[in-house]
Amino acid sequence: MERDPETPRVLLLDLDGVLVDTRPVMESAWHRVQEAHGLDVPFEEYERHLGRPFADIMKQLGLVDAERIHQTYAEASTAASYLARQFEDISKVLHTFVAADWLLGIVTSKPLDRAAPLLAQLGCPFATVRTPNGVGRGKPAPDPILLALIDLGADPADAMYVGDMAVDQEAARRAGVSYVHAGWGYGCPSAPAPAVAESPKDLLRLLEVGGPTIPFLEGSLV
Ligand SMILES: [Mg+2]
Repeated sequence: MERDPETPRVLLLDLDGVLVDTRPVMESAWHRVQEAHGLDVPFEEYERHLGRPFADIMKQLGLVDAERIHQTYAEASTAASYLARQFEDISKVLHTFVAADWLLGIVTSKPLDRAAPLLAQLGCPFATVRTPNGVGRGKPAPDPILLALIDLGADPADAMYVGDMAVDQEAARRAGVSYVHAGWGYGCPSAPAPAVAESPKDLLRLLEVGGPTIPFLEGSLV
């Protein structure tokens, strides 16, 4: 079925590794967890599971006492939040989507209290933000993407999800939403190979946003 050109397109985005480089924050917080709880799980091992809610990562790592560990991690993340950096051009790119009448939404496994200040710094009108604070299962389950679509009254066919981990790709597939992999992020996509944007600006090219799609013709007013 052809999509109705009057229906707004929806761009759903992951946060860590897509909009903001929070790897130094996460690494610092994980080192604090290692010290405080006497864990020898290296950051690289923790990092392999990024994209899932924290409690799920603890399960994947076979760590009990997830709640206390999360408390330490959350406090250390907040203390190290000054290390977070927006990826180059990301704010400009998001505003270009807004100017082209796309609706923007966030689907992240970062809790709302730590996601909100990072999103506020981008200065973009996000129409929905879905975090593990809401109902449903976390990524790679499709729930947060589907909930974001319900928030926006949008069909999966009108939406794209941009993520940087294989769990993002799986969540998009299970939600019936097209996926674009952020090549500047922390992870690799899995099979089948998705579309890959090499940079935030490359998203505009891939999704044909901003700028004329018809070449200028000499003597025309196009
Ligand atoms: Mg991510």
